[in-house]
Amino acid sequence: MRRLSILVSLLLATAAPAAANDPKWSEPIAPFKIADGLYHVGSRDIAAFLIDGGKDGLVLLDAGVPDFAPRVIENIRTLGFDPKRVRILLNSQAHFDHAGGLAAIQKATGAKLLLSAPDAALMKRGGKRDFAFGDAVPYPVARVDGIVKDAHRVTIGTATLTAHITPGHTKGCTTWTMPLKVDGATKTALFICGTSAPGYRLIGNPAYPNIVADFRASFAKLKALPCDIFLGSHGSYFNMDEKRGRAGATPNPFLDPEGCSAFLDASSRRFETELAKQQADHLRAGTVQK
Ligand SMILES: [Zn+2]
Repeated sequence: MRRLSILVSLLLATAAPAAANDPKWSEPIAPFKIADGLYHVGSRDIAAFLIDGGKDGLVLLDAGVPDFAPRVIENIRTLGFDPKRVRILLNSQAHFDHAGGLAAIQKATGAKLLLSAPDAALMKRGGKRDFAFGDAVPYPVARVDGIVKDAHRVTIGTATLTAHITPGHTKGCTTWTMPLKVDGATKTALFICGTSAPGYRLIGNPAYPNIVADFRASFAKLKALPCDIFLGSHGSYFNMDEKRGRAGATPNPFLDPEGCSAFLDASSRRFETELAKQQADHLRAGTVQK
């Protein structure tokens, strides 16, 4: 019985991301400063980052679920910024839990939204016809004002973010890097898009034939990127809930290159394990065509 309940909770744990909308993820938390010019304005697990470019304005990376958008706006105000000064909206992945609030925030701020081409297409469909989730997790459509390509830089005043297209979790999953002054030295913040394949069909997927090659190339790319300040689209990636309790301390708690590489190693191992399992299932089903 005990073994069964453990199995059930494991199944629930792996099924949760597929739903892309665990209510616990959107629990409100106080906004906080990560480092000079960088703040968190998201929820307990779904990150939203506010970047201060000085007099030229603000950038918002991710917006949480649709219902959380007013809270993001309020968090920006709580930190002492005028939400109307948000000029640019960026996104990690055009899934409900990270892009769902963008339409409301765009309406409130008039900011321009920049997305990778594949995720711009997903946004224009309001999250529908997702290669993995189909029409299960739709969200309000925001206006796409520009396309970001790999290595494209987005600058606002003193802040510059660089896009790294790391497809797999979505076809245009975008990881961002940004230089920051931390404890008196220039460091690189890495905002990891997403590395999970929740319930994804990895073998012979007609909706995404290149999925395995894309994931593997993205893992290689992510591991090669500098990661001093370890961040990502979900707080659980970088242990945000624990680190935010130490925000403002020296050394900066978000300085965690070891945690970053451990996360990427574990994520790529999890992916390879899932792939091997699907390959074995596929062989067992006798559907391999030679
Ligand atoms: Zn996602």
